[in-house]
Amino acid sequence: MADVFAIGVDLGGSKIAAGLVDERGLVHRRMSLPTPHGQGPSAIIGLIADTCRTLGAGAAGSHLPIGIGSPGVIDSRRGSVVTATDTMPGWAGTELADDLSQASGRHVVVDNDVNAFALGEHRYGAGRGASDVLYASVGTSVGGGLVLHGRLLTGAHHGAGELGHVPVSAAGGDACSCGRTGHLETVASGPAMAAAYARLTRRNPPLDLRHVAERARRGDTAAITVLNQGAEALGRTLAGLATVIDPQRVVVGGGVSQIGPAYWAPLRDAFHGSGLPSTTAVDIVPAALGIDAGIAGAAALTRQHPRN
Ligand SMILES: [Zn+2]
Repeated sequence: MADVFAIGVDLGGSKIAAGLVDERGLVHRRMSLPTPHGQGPSAIIGLIADTCRTLGAGAAGSHLPIGIGSPGVIDSRRGSVVTATDTMPGWAGTELADDLSQASGRHVVVDNDVNAFALGEHRYGAGRGASDVLYASVGTSVGGGLVLHGRLLTGAHHGAGELGHVPVSAAGGDACSCGRTGHLETVASGPAMAAAYARLTRRNPPLDLRHVAERARRGDTAAITVLNQGAEALGRTLAGLATVIDPQRVVVGGGVSQIGPAYWAPLRDAFHGSGLPSTTAVDIVPAALGIDAGIAGAAALTRQHPRN
């Protein structure tokens, strides 16, 4: 039988956010600590184990399972890190589930961090009530996750949902974070739109996207143009995926999704105008839970993969 409470951990390159989560996705206790990323995987795992011990103290049962959303490509069946970027040196190859289970004495389930957000929004947030949800996260990078029939799609090579690396015609020759060119992330991420504004206005140093969005709200044509370009590229890509998958709902989270109508109007237009006419029946909505989606979704991973 599944535990009533579980511990959810949203592990990032700079911060570990963790909480004690109930079956309704409510976060009862939370902790946030800097990630000791310069000290290697064992320091990170030790700190997570300590954090979980503190969060679980006094809660019903001392064996609460731990779910973790981790950066990188994650083999969720093994609970191991397949590849990771330079923000987490030495993280690739870490047997996270086994090592943390040993350090904490608890059942540990691991998936990709964006997948945890997708599951959190699906279960408790903007995707609640829908069995099939396409989730997109747009911020410093562009990521995604797919929940089909109530379960996360992981893919044959642990890479399902890598939305930012879908080839798009709007992308120029800018290098993507993956090393290739022509990918959605190079047009649609926050830094990509901020860089486009700097190019268009010959502004140096560039403004960050928050200020570009503020200018768009005041009617700055160049700012409106770059938000339109980013939103259109994302909307068209999501329309393509929705045409293939036919989800009930598309949820868009991350910092860029909070810009408001200046971003959402072109995003909705591109989404509903690009795919099959039937995609006009698919709702596209902002994420509802903010950072809690990562914690609650990570905890929900333990309910998808309960202890045998
Ligand atoms: Zn890429």
